[in-house]
Amino acid sequence: MSDLSEKTMSVLGSTGSVGKQALDVAREHGIKVYGITCAKGIGAAEEQIREFSPRVCAVLDEKAASDLRARVSDTGCRVTCGKDAICEVASAAQNDVVVNSITGVAGLMPSVAVIRSGKRLALANKETIVTAGKTVMSLAKERGCEILPVDSEHSAIFQSIGANDKKDIERIILTASGGPFFGKKREELKDITPQMALAHPTWNMGPKITVDSASLMNKGFEVIEAVHLFGVKPSMVDVVVHRESIIHSLVEYTDKAVLAQLSYPDMRLCVRYAVSYPERTASSLRPLDLASIGTLTFAKPDVETFSLLSLAYYVAGHPDTTLGATLNGANERAVELFLNGKIGFTDIFDLVERVVRNSPELPLTFENVFEADAAAREDIDKLSLS
Ligand code: MG
Repeated sequence: MSDLSEKTMSVLGSTGSVGKQALDVAREHGIKVYGITCAKGIGAAEEQIREFSPRVCAVLDEKAASDLRARVSDTGCRVTCGKDAICEVASAAQNDVVVNSITGVAGLMPSVAVIRSGKRLALANKETIVTAGKTVMSLAKERGCEILPVDSEHSAIFQSIGANDKKDIERIILTASGGPFFGKKREELKDITPQMALAHPTWNMGPKITVDSASLMNKGFEVIEAVHLFGVKPSMVDVVVHRESIIHSLVEYTDKAVLAQLSYPDMRLCVRYAVSYPERTASSLRPLDLASIGTLTFAKPDVETFSLLSLAYYVAGHPDTTLGATLNGANERAVELFLNGKIGFTDIFDLVERVVRNSPELPLTFENVFEADAAAREDIDKLSLS
């Protein structure tokens, strides 16, 4: 069993939902925290500085950074500011493992900074792989950087692969909770409000990813991530709706044996494993009681209603281009407009599909990722007004 109190970690995006759960794991196991970063939520950052005594806290927003600096001047924590400061925390020599739980494409370059440092990346930022998966994975291979997924599905796949040979994988089966609108047809989704979309049945997450779960865009992103993280073809990834969120994903091998990881839904399991791997460590998570759960159910996803899932397969088939960045940027902007009451729920599907199908595909470079991202957002704005 692993003693995690020997480890030092940094948490990028520490004030978000996954970031806070990563610090729960640090608290439970006495893991040292070298650095934290946030965009501007400095109230939570101040509490974290007082509890975990990190050496540095990088804040994206300049005004928020100077407010925080004044608030924590009695502590030993240095408050730095800006994108480069966040990348400095990401690449610090003190880290054993860096949890990247930044939301959005802003998490890409911090991931790259961790990879270049050769330290372990515990990756919760989906956009890193969705927008630049191919380049990121080859860079990680070159630098000998281990990427441990911090997402229930990909952590389950990683655990189910274990010591098996990747070339024996026949199929990856991603489970999906189906979100709050499972069973509804497109017509019935027209009047969905942000409040309705924000009520997720099994996972408690931030607003953007909760809307993505309701639209199944999140599952589409996870298909793209699985393709890159595990080096499989898009046709080898299946999605099955599993309402109970107990089986977190499965891997089928050439002999048709299927391995899976089961547990009550809790992100802290993924964070803990990403830190302790290849060892395991004791946790306070409730033991699984299958008899009291009784029944686990499975269903085919409705890809006609939830068309963003099909669109993600199309994008996964174009790994050498910026199409992933276009999909992500278009969706991020469309979800923002939906949450602000500017467009309807089904407009997310229509607008994102139009932008992805009509955007030029640039060769995959980091520079082009940001260009495609900005262009996709602009296109969504234009289309939403027309
Ligand atoms: Mg997930």
